[in-house]
Amino acid sequence: MSRDPRHDILFEPVRIGPVTAPNRFYQVPHCTGMGWLRPRTLAAMRGVKAEGGWGVVCTEYTSIHPSSDDLPHPSASLWDDSDVRAHALMTDAVHEHGALAGVELWYGGARTANMMTRLPSMDVQSAPNLAGHPYQTRAMDKADIRTFRHWHRRAALRAREAGFDIVYVYATHGYLVSNFLNPRINTRGDEYGGSLENRVRLVRELIEETKEAVGDRCAVAVRFSADEVAGEDGTPIWGERREMFAMLADLPDLWDINIADYSLEMGVSRFVKEAALEPYMAWVKSVTSKPVVTVGRFTSPDTMVGQIRRGITDFIGAARPSIADPFLPRKIEEGRLSAIRECIGCNICYSGDSLGVPIRCTQNPTMGEEWRRGWHPEVIPARTSEARVLIVGAGPAGLEAARALGARGYEVMLAEATRDLGGRVTREAALPGMREYIRVRDYREQQLIDMPNVGIFRESRLTVQDVQDVGADHVAIATGARWRPERFDEQVYLPIATGEAVARVLTPDDIMEGRLPEGPTLVFDGDGYYMGGVIAERLRAEGLEVTLCTPDDSVSRWTVNTAERWRVRNHLMRLGVGIETAQSLAGFDGREARLECVYSGREKIIPAVNVVMVTARRPEDALYQALLAEAGADGLPFTLARIGDCEAPAIIAAAVHAGHRYARELDAVLDIDLPLRHDRIDVGAEATAPGLWTRGAAE
Ligand code: ADP
Ligand code: SF4
Repeated sequence: MSRDPRHDILFEPVRIGPVTAPNRFYQVPHCTGMGWLRPRTLAAMRGVKAEGGWGVVCTEYTSIHPSSDDLPHPSASLWDDSDVRAHALMTDAVHEHGALAGVELWYGGARTANMMTRLPSMDVQSAPNLAGHPYQTRAMDKADIRTFRHWHRRAALRAREAGFDIVYVYATHGYLVSNFLNPRINTRGDEYGGSLENRVRLVRELIEETKEAVGDRCAVAVRFSADEVAGEDGTPIWGERREMFAMLADLPDLWDINIADYSLEMGVSRFVKEAALEPYMAWVKSVTSKPVVTVGRFTSPDTMVGQIRRGITDFIGAARPSIADPFLPRKIEEGRLSAIRECIGCNICYSGDSLGVPIRCTQNPTMGEEWRRGWHPEVIPARTSEARVLIVGAGPAGLEAARALGARGYEVMLAEATRDLGGRVTREAALPGMREYIRVRDYREQQLIDMPNVGIFRESRLTVQDVQDVGADHVAIATGARWRPERFDEQVYLPIATGEAVARVLTPDDIMEGRLPEGPTLVFDGDGYYMGGVIAERLRAEGLEVTLCTPDDSVSRWTVNTAERWRVRNHLMRLGVGIETAQSLAGFDGREARLECVYSGREKIIPAVNVVMVTARRPEDALYQALLAEAGADGLPFTLARIGDCEAPAIIAAAVHAGHRYARELDAVLDIDLPLRHDRIDVGAEATAPGLWTRGAAE
């Protein structure tokens, strides 16, 4: 197959100052939870993107000096020669495939408390830390500004030495440089504050100095916001931005444009759809002659072409679409559109950085596993035996196991109890805002259609006897999990009602299966991720009076890791959902719910004739346990495994990963003591030598 000529424009080379991008696919800087801590993992991951056809591949935010340290969120760094060597792993991996490597030089300012280095953070003014730590910044004086420019220049020189082709001046996202631009923040009385010209001065100097330092070989890009402050979605508040932009318009070699509202720019699909930045970009290209890149969670090549033809952008910027499918450009080039693994907009990738662990992706189980497990998103080792594999259950785990095993060439039978494949994603995707989650199923179902070695058996609820009759060599049980009606008090599961009220205690499974209640309903969210809020919204859409109650201090607590917590609560409040935080559900009698403050124990009564318990899930592993029980002295005539939620209920990404891991490891020789490579600072054999203090004492 070859590409559709309509998409040719996406494959045109584009000049960026002294360098040329081979096409218009541009992986903008995105965090990975790897940073300076895991350079090999990082380099392999970025290299795979270049291999997949991204013409430009950038790092994450890269600290220029120890006074900008974001741990526990791992940024990259360019502080010294060791960093240069670490980045060279990445630039080499990217260059190997003909792509350009970009680096985003970064200084946090009031967003970082420097918890590791313990140096005071600096910003335009003395301001409280914006991540909520009880630290304030030091107000920069002119000597500090001079020193900062020196650090920036030094980092740019190191970037060039490390082999980067594009060096960023990072002037958005509330970090230091953007605060200098901000008229509300920057009211300094010196030549760096107050007037528009003064506020733009630092960015201008950084661009000029970076160009002077490395511009012979590297392009200089600026990351800049198209609007002034966050307003209603899709309604830009431009303020003086256009004027500011016009003052700098042709100074850098490339503009990387985003917007003031990070929760829209990086929006989850529940609230934000493809190409959401377009209304903000309207004027940008008319002001500069330099190439422009912007993002929009683009996965449709037609939308991409439209963005370029209509003059919105020159490059198709992507973070998430490149994570979900590092081979997206290649697939478009080869005309294999149905093979694209489309991002579902869940932001699980972002949670890696939030939590300080390597990036993961719901759609792409190989993300972050390129180096430590040697997994490639498109290449999987061929089977090593003629074995036949039975997979029971076609949720995310079963579907991914079948797809990956099918790709390895195994003969696979996939049995699913219901008519529809997809398990939990099929059910959850029917809930409000969750439509894009169906892509987890659709991508895999589409792939399976083309695999003659995979048989799909719908409406086939298998029993122990059925499994035995199939005569497979390997059996994987992927039968999922169901929500429990109890609450969990951190030690045991407790029933919440007795007598007739028991029938009025529902779970998300009841709601998803269409058993909708009537009358005032309390949704008790002890889970803390998206399900509680989504169920509340679903019931509100039926016109019910709904209260969402959680023992946490905030609504949908865990969604802070996916950059959507503010939106979730705002949305529920707008819908008229009542909110009770820091309240545990102590009892329910069919008329009232008895809440208990988690701090004081004080009781509160809420009228409710139903409760929906969103607490925990019970693994549906009865088939697995029954098969094990059948094993007897001779064992089973097949290997038996359980995967996904039926093994340990978790997020969808975990089930997809479990299915993929099962497929990769089948027939493989694996060291069970160390099943993956450990990327960390290797101190070598000297580690066993006495430390400095010991040696000092002995001498
Ligand atoms: P996971 O997230 O681990 O993939 P899901 O709950 O999404 O789990 O999917 C489990 C799937 O297994 C569901 O589609 C369910 O209908 C199916 N299933 C459960 N029990 C059986 C069984 N005995 N035979 C076949 N399919 C089953
Ligand atoms: Fe997209 Fe979710 Fe993967 Fe992130 S984790 S790239 S949002 S599918």
